[in-house]
Amino acid sequence: MKEKKKLSLAAQIFIALVLAVIAGLLMQKNANFAETYIKPFGTIFLNLLKFIVVPIVLFSIMCGIISMKDIKKVGSIGAKTVVYYMCTTAFAITFGLIGANMFKGAFPKIATTDLSYKADQTISLMDTIVNIFPSNFVSPMVEANMLQVIVTALILGFGIILLGEGERNTRLVTACNDLNDVFMKCMEMILKLSPIGVFCLLSPVIASNGPAIIGSLAMVLLTAYVCYIIHAVVVYSFAVKTMGGMSPLKFFKGMLPAIMFAFSSSSSVGTLPINMECVENMGASKEVSSFVLPLGATINMDGTAIYQGVCAIFIASCYGIHLTLPQMLTMILTATLASIGTAGVPGAGMVMLAMVLASVGLPVDGIALVAGVDRIFDMGRTVVNITGDASCCIIVSNMERKKDAKREIANGL
Ligand code: ASP
Repeated sequence: MKEKKKLSLAAQIFIALVLAVIAGLLMQKNANFAETYIKPFGTIFLNLLKFIVVPIVLFSIMCGIISMKDIKKVGSIGAKTVVYYMCTTAFAITFGLIGANMFKGAFPKIATTDLSYKADQTISLMDTIVNIFPSNFVSPMVEANMLQVIVTALILGFGIILLGEGERNTRLVTACNDLNDVFMKCMEMILKLSPIGVFCLLSPVIASNGPAIIGSLAMVLLTAYVCYIIHAVVVYSFAVKTMGGMSPLKFFKGMLPAIMFAFSSSSSVGTLPINMECVENMGASKEVSSFVLPLGATINMDGTAIYQGVCAIFIASCYGIHLTLPQMLTMILTATLASIGTAGVPGAGMVMLAMVLASVGLPVDGIALVAGVDRIFDMGRTVVNITGDASCCIIVSNMERKKDAKREIANGL
């Protein structure tokens, strides 16, 4: 009997994406229906992803560290990762600022007299650093504070390595790996639902944000999307080709499922499991991906940085403020640091925009100008965020592979 060919997950997600756009456009007059009856299923799916992501990050980072068996190796991979993340984010915000300055003439001039935006308390840089370290063993898990979960995983992983080789260590390593496998299996089950999740998340957004609302901000959105694409194509292609030893075409093709998922969910953390699958299918080592990707989903936000640059210039132009070069340099620094504190969930980047605006004395109320279409900015910036994480993973994996090969040759001599 002929076996029925099953559509790949990527194909299923793509079909869901197209159907969501069509259904969203058809439901424009009934946006309430979409909000009330379709969105909740998307929320359920997102909740399931959030439920699984904490144990996945905790155990995959722990297993990654334990499998390296060497604290120094963890340090070397960690350092390469953080340097890459910081540099690409600085590039991203620079692209955002240059792009927005070029298109500035075409931006709409919107009156700013009645604007008000209530920013959450802005967090200082020192607070952000202090908040990385948990003061309690369970709260990072309960609050899904990813940076703190990562620190917990690092400490526990190092603890297991320091136990040294022996029976106890072997038992613990086996237990961690087994638990990791269990959570991965749970994740696979949840991911099977992603086409439904994508449809239910995206169609209400299209239904309530249809073409009309984009209207006056079309040029600002277009500028952000042009910068997103240029950054992804130029920076990631170059980096993946030169340092990752992979053709950019293969990279972007392999990333398609994660890209489509990020676009529909606007959540880097939610996309993490699919992103892990994509980079591993492209040949990245599990040891590296299990460490680099969760870290990236938490601290690396290139798309968010571009968005902040573009919006800052747009807001400044509406207020008739001209930003000087030193102010732009300050923004590059703050946006790079702000991306560390941005959570990988929908809308987080807009909250951090307040910090970037405040750093150069721009009125935070200006955020109200872009808040209405934030989701549309968010879909694109999340795609860039997760693609940046994956490019880093391919590069670090390739570097480690080369290093290991060299070491083997040296040992063999
Ligand atoms: N939604 C983005 C992400 O998850 C964060 C942001 O709002 O900029 O990567």
